[in-house]
Amino acid sequence: MKKVLTLSAIALAVLAGCNSTPTQQSVKASLVPDTLVVSPNDKRAYQTLKLANEIEIILVSDPSVEKSAAALSVGVGLLHDPMTQQGMAHYLEHMLFLGTERYPDTKEYSEFMTKNGGAHNAYTWLDITNYMFKVNNDAYDNALDRFADFFKAPKLYPEYTDKEKNAVNAEWSMRREMDFFGQFKLSRNLMGDHPANRFLIGNLETLGDKENSSLHQETVDFYNQYYSSNIMKVAMISNLPLAEMETLAKKYFSNIENKKIEKPTVTQTLDLSKVAGKRVFYKPNEDVKQLKLDFTIENNQADYAVKPNRFIAYLLSSEMPGTPAQILRDKGWVSQLTSSAAPDMYGNYGSLSIDLELTDQGMANRDEIVAIVMQYIELIRTQGIDDKYFDEIRTSLNNQFTFLEKGDEFGYVSNLADSMQKYPLNNVINAGYYYAKFDAQAVTEVLNQLTPAALKIWYISQQEQTDSQLHFYDGEYRLADLTADEITSWQQPAKVAMNLPAVNRMLPEDFAIKTLPGAATTPEVVFDQSGVKIWQVASEQFAHQPKGLLKVYLNSDLADSGAKAQVLYSIWADLYNLQQSALSTEASIAGMNLGLSASNGLVLTINGFTDKQSELLTQGLAALNVAVDQQGFAQAIDRFSRSVANQGKQFPFYQAFDEFNNLISNNSYSNEVLISTAQSLTVADLNAFINQTFKRNQIRSFVFGNYDQQDVSRIAKQLQALLPAGHQISAYSKDKAWLPRTGEVYVVKKDIDVADVAIVDVVIHPQAGYKQKARARILQSHFRTVAFDKLRTEEQLAYAVGGFARPIDEFAGLGLYIQTPVKGPKDMQARFDAFKTEYVAELNKVTKETFEQLKNATLVGLKEQPKNLGDELSPLLGDWYRENFAFDSRAQLIAEVEKVTLEDIKTFYKETMGNSEAARINVQMRGTKFKETDFATIKGAVEIKDLAELKQHMKYQQ
Ligand SMILES: [Zn+2]
Repeated sequence: MKKVLTLSAIALAVLAGCNSTPTQQSVKASLVPDTLVVSPNDKRAYQTLKLANEIEIILVSDPSVEKSAAALSVGVGLLHDPMTQQGMAHYLEHMLFLGTERYPDTKEYSEFMTKNGGAHNAYTWLDITNYMFKVNNDAYDNALDRFADFFKAPKLYPEYTDKEKNAVNAEWSMRREMDFFGQFKLSRNLMGDHPANRFLIGNLETLGDKENSSLHQETVDFYNQYYSSNIMKVAMISNLPLAEMETLAKKYFSNIENKKIEKPTVTQTLDLSKVAGKRVFYKPNEDVKQLKLDFTIENNQADYAVKPNRFIAYLLSSEMPGTPAQILRDKGWVSQLTSSAAPDMYGNYGSLSIDLELTDQGMANRDEIVAIVMQYIELIRTQGIDDKYFDEIRTSLNNQFTFLEKGDEFGYVSNLADSMQKYPLNNVINAGYYYAKFDAQAVTEVLNQLTPAALKIWYISQQEQTDSQLHFYDGEYRLADLTADEITSWQQPAKVAMNLPAVNRMLPEDFAIKTLPGAATTPEVVFDQSGVKIWQVASEQFAHQPKGLLKVYLNSDLADSGAKAQVLYSIWADLYNLQQSALSTEASIAGMNLGLSASNGLVLTINGFTDKQSELLTQGLAALNVAVDQQGFAQAIDRFSRSVANQGKQFPFYQAFDEFNNLISNNSYSNEVLISTAQSLTVADLNAFINQTFKRNQIRSFVFGNYDQQDVSRIAKQLQALLPAGHQISAYSKDKAWLPRTGEVYVVKKDIDVADVAIVDVVIHPQAGYKQKARARILQSHFRTVAFDKLRTEEQLAYAVGGFARPIDEFAGLGLYIQTPVKGPKDMQARFDAFKTEYVAELNKVTKETFEQLKNATLVGLKEQPKNLGDELSPLLGDWYRENFAFDSRAQLIAEVEKVTLEDIKTFYKETMGNSEAARINVQMRGTKFKETDFATIKGAVEIKDLAELKQHMKYQQ
């Protein structure tokens, strides 16, 4: 599961043009600082060093952390796979976790991590393989010993070599239906014999023994060739002083072998006339309507300090009056326009793209949209290379960096080890924020590459006519050359008047701290009058940050009236966010966020720097009463319907969890009901509903961070002004969770439109309360590790598989989940059933000592201090929504965890998994590949055919 999340995060990062970007050539040396640059807000101690074997290391000492972490990246990746074993770099990454010389047991590493509150993972991308872990401080030394041995003496057992390719195959099976991977593959297909044109993930067809190629031998060879200390980078963080960390770093990393290899790079040039100058008609799996202008550019990572890509993308994606985003949205053609660059997307080449989400009207005018964007690029070329935009971007980045917040240790070392492969050491922390000077020449160089010859225009929708099918991925396409006429038409004057963006008015100027000494650190009601109630709390840990979060919750019991209300709140929020995108984009450049979401009414969220929030709130509230015409409404219904339908294209195990969540909540509806409800609505319905909501609601507001009494008074006034004459205060509406009762068992069996099978199987403890939740919490870490080891490492049934504890409001549940490409639902459920019994023996093997470690790890996790404002806020908000105004749910859980004994978790297991009378929910999703196989029969279960019917007699917790 962890691995799933990471790789898709990488994929998304690439999609979003993530700003971490590697160097190819020499960076302009004069712009590189002499020492490591850290945020003035960062009080941790840093040290950089290079060991005798040439490993570069960053040490971060932070006495406040409860967990220590390390990451090691190797400067080799998928681009260097042997063509005889495509997927090798990724596959080797999997293999390193399965035993080393000093720790030969394949399970040892994950068991060690579980007992010590650890987490571990790795990812492989085109030019990097990155490994990371975090663990309780007292286990850091031992964890490093295990971790470092991966890079000295991995076992690479032949028998596991053969097994683990199935996990890689299962991973490929999951991702083959993801449209991002299909489109990325097609782009690379066009690159001919460039090294980027290869498979990447690997599967059973590419990984295995062939004539003249043994998988095991090639794995060993790849490791021996590339795993050399001189292309490795390490980042470490712990509570230890720097001197002790240095000793640890030397102890564990200085004896990794230096093979003195050249850092693998790609230098092969592309013939753009073959790669681009094309229109790509692409038929995706999801029902989307997209247009993308995708320019192939040279990798200019080395220009990170002068940021030409960022400068251009900033102008392209501006929402100010006269820009394409504003013009096309006003025409009702486009709901979203973004621009980003990924300069290392293909190794020595990258991409700068403009991505548009279209409406049906936009679909009918795609050629004109392309022309407008191309003409705007010309406008940038002739008038846009102006240092006033540099000033604006630099101010925005500077503000972010000056008040940079800490993150989780695991993510931090992982990012550092990644950046160390890409930027000069002294810039690895600030590379994304560092804008050294205005460099018109660098901008011009990139603009000069944004030509028709370097352009692919993607028409992406299910309506495209196609004539070819991708290999190894699900996606159909057709290619056509851009015509000379079309290209000439872009050189004509634009049909619409366009201009470059005006200056941003929202950049903060005042960073004063308003929090009073001794301010309340538990939220308190500071205003309560005629339907408006405000809770306020200052930050306990980060009171020096000039930032804050403000929630305005327009809660209404109209939300309880059924699917129609739920759809209307979603449509309302969607229209609001669309209409306010100019404002929210301007705010985000200024370091603030504005957004509206639907949840038993509407939640308006504003956060970031507090200086100009008052202005943002005024504008944000004024726009709440959205106005929409017939066309805009129909487009919103279309977006809503497609987004619901696209849930059926997600990973099967995600879909299975969605079904589970739908089943246990009182206020949820099947996708079919949501779509048919949406299709039946009119503009008049929305307008009437907006009126009703303003008349009948209660407003709750949560104010957290850098606000004073004056701010609160002003907010109160603004909120009161929202309420019309004749306002009625409605009861607080919140979702209720299923009340599980003995013997109550539900099963969902569903055929889905993707290949694999998924099962989620949850058994609920009969007794409500923190006592059982505490037991589940400790048990789950062990249960999950054993499930992963048996079902994945040993039996290779899946890539995504595991055990988990899942509270259903006051009740504790324990469950198993899987997404498998190798078994139908009946066989898979039979394996789950057998596992549940086998696990008893594993649980009985747990010693007192191991139990104390598991319990300690759980406590360390629960008591961990927040790293940033968001961490501090999240448990408070959770309690606030649930109306636990003592804000003590975490404290109560901790108190119960302290009391749990080894016998207790055994009893808990017996009373859930071992209890045939316990309430249970079982979800089976049958993929297309297994249509001919049977669903599993669950004894005594009620099969859910109609969710709405079930909800009528289901009992809910109050
Ligand atoms: Zn993997």
